[in-house]
Amino acid sequence: MIPGFIVLQAEEAESFFDSGVWWFFTRMSIAVLAGLWLALIYWVYKDARRRVADPLMVWVAVAAAAFPFVGPLFYAILRPPEYLDDVMERSLEIKAREMEVRQREQAMGGAVGTCPACREPVRDDFLICPKCRRELKVACSGCRKPLDPDWRICPFCSVEVGSRMGAGEDMFA
Ligand SMILES: [Zn+2]
Ligand SMILES: [Zn+2]
Repeated sequence: MIPGFIVLQAEEAESFFDSGVWWFFTRMSIAVLAGLWLALIYWVYKDARRRVADPLMVWVAVAAAAFPFVGPLFYAILRPPEYLDDVMERSLEIKAREMEVRQREQAMGGAVGTCPACREPVRDDFLICPKCRRELKVACSGCRKPLDPDWRICPFCSVEVGSRMGAGEDMFA
């Protein structure tokens, strides 16, 4: 004996699945999922073209994206982090900066650094910054070559840097 209300509920449920509402709901869901699937493939194609230089690899990415929903997710994780345009722009920028440094070095006649005080370009062998008078190098007391202030000995003539007496000091020691 099946209680009457269960039979009634089952009939109601059946009529719901047969109804136009259910039919409409399932068709709409399928259409939305299919649209999303196509949109994701298109997105992967557009994105890969901006990030991947090799056209074959672009199509590999698109083929992988055709695997519903998991494909685009994997693509999003594994894709190159930068746009090709940005990579190109940066390499051009670096080249331009290198050229600028080389031109500056040619103009100044030697390897160029920057004054730590005023950021003025200064030659590596300058003793004093010509702009702000900051002491950059110390002239060796023996050979007059420019030395770093924290060097203890001249690498050119092996005179002790601390000794202001110069090369003749040894004679008095
Ligand atoms: Zn300076
Ligand atoms: Zn020296």
